[in-house]
Amino acid sequence: VWSNVEMGPPDAILGVTEAFKKDTSPKKMNLGVGAYRDDAGKPYVLPSVKKAEDAIIQAGLDKEYAGIIGVPDFYNAAIKLALGADSPVIKEKLNVTTQAISGTGALRVGANFFNTWYTKSKNFWLPTPSWGNHTPILKHAGLKVSSYRYYDPNTCGFDFKGAIEDIKKIPEGDVILLHACAHNPTGVDPKPEQWKELSQVIKERKLFPYFDMAYQGFASGSTDTDAFAVRTFIKDGHQIALSQSFSKNMGLYGERVGAFSIICSSAEEAERVMSQVKIIIRPLYSNPPVHGARIAAKILNTPELNAQWLKEVKGMADRIITMRQRLQDGLKREGSSRNWQHITDQIGMFCFTGLKPDQVEKLTKEFSIYLTKDGRISVAGVSSNNVDYLAHAIHQVTK
Ligand code: PMP
Repeated sequence: VWSNVEMGPPDAILGVTEAFKKDTSPKKMNLGVGAYRDDAGKPYVLPSVKKAEDAIIQAGLDKEYAGIIGVPDFYNAAIKLALGADSPVIKEKLNVTTQAISGTGALRVGANFFNTWYTKSKNFWLPTPSWGNHTPILKHAGLKVSSYRYYDPNTCGFDFKGAIEDIKKIPEGDVILLHACAHNPTGVDPKPEQWKELSQVIKERKLFPYFDMAYQGFASGSTDTDAFAVRTFIKDGHQIALSQSFSKNMGLYGERVGAFSIICSSAEEAERVMSQVKIIIRPLYSNPPVHGARIAAKILNTPELNAQWLKEVKGMADRIITMRQRLQDGLKREGSSRNWQHITDQIGMFCFTGLKPDQVEKLTKEFSIYLTKDGRISVAGVSSNNVDYLAHAIHQVTK
């Protein structure tokens, strides 16, 4: 029956892990995966998550279905985390918020909703480059994808001028996708002043801003600082759409905890939009899983646990920032005459090193260091034990 089915290519990032597993070198490093590791290189279950989970198990809750839009204590707390607890949008009930199957599922519910109900355009504009799954998510939902300039390979920084030039040419009504913080894969974020200007230009052009927030708290260590872009756009009167993920900031990767929101112009409009969001979700997966959402809700809604979690998020962000500094210092110590300033200018889990594909290949072949061909390294995979080895290897392939 399936003789017509061609072999598809393996997933670019998961392929890196496969190759890493086969390598027998004791020095091997996997810098491909986008998951946090502690300083011993081990997966990290946040102590606040463990506490919340223990309390939930103690409570002996049943396993009944959640509603179509999930666990209310979770999705109400999620939107508060993004917009701020005293946001007028929430007070006036202008937000439509649903739990989703993590960030990916939130993007997909959003994409399906836009394809069905957004009549002005089917075209989404993505930064170049963007997270590899954005294009397939949008295309599978029937939307079109275009791109605007974002990363400048000459500076390994933000191409602000190029981005503004391109955005000014986007047709009115089109949707622009923005990474709220800790841009994946580049680690390059606009500065606060640049976000303000982006908000103005996007408003003048009458574009629809769609935020993907997969790393709130993970960039700076503060969930408020990392919400700057989202909150600035809201303050400027944009009616944004927002996908949130709790994979990184709570380390809940496999629990699939996320949320999707649309900001409406009235509470009455929000009720209508919510009814249609439910109609989109019901035939997709009926209702989301409850366990991870209960954990996140417990953390977000219990003041002591929340304070503990914020410290732990900061701990993860700080460890990554320290590793960036040590990698940069290590390259200097090795005698590299290149400019590695971008390693510490960039933020969040990833560093876009600027390494060329042949240099990446050498790193893998000669040093057993695994990363994606675009030169992206997951700084979360770097630790005190291997940061000097990494600096040495990068210097060897770039000198
Ligand atoms: N958006 C971006 C930019 C991401 O980097 C990720 C995670 N790699 C996601 C969304 C979604 O991740 P998840 O589905 O695990 O929440």
